Amino acid sequence: MPPPLHRREALCQKVGQWSRRLKVQPRIIRVQRMTRKWGSCSTAGIITLALDLVDQDACFQDFVIAHELLHMRTPNHVKLFKALMSLHVPDWRRHDVNRLRPKGRAQLISPVRLTHSG
Ligand SMILES: [Zn+2]
Repeated sequence: MPPPLHRREALCQKVGQWSRRLKVQPRIIRVQRMTRKWGSCSTAGIITLALDLVDQDACFQDFVIAHELLHMRTPNHVKLFKALMSLHVPDWRRHDVNRLRPKGRAQLISPVRLTHSG
């Protein structure tokens, strides 16, 4: 069953708030079913978030959203990227560990590792 619309909207609003804060402008924000990642960011400015991120706690949502949005400024996980994460999400390292996806979704997955393939 899909989550209620308002939770999905709340997630998109959060993306809007973070975009202003991080001074980036995603062209499109998508919330869709994703099984292997929590989020992704394309060079074309498309932010995609996993639908079931709405079920996660707010801190983790912030972490994933800030992470993806910061990639619009810094494509890789370079030192600057980590510095920006620390600036905006001071406790991001707490989340930067493997987190179990809901049952039936195979293995432990790190949002960071799985955001990008290279
Ligand atoms: Zn990343």
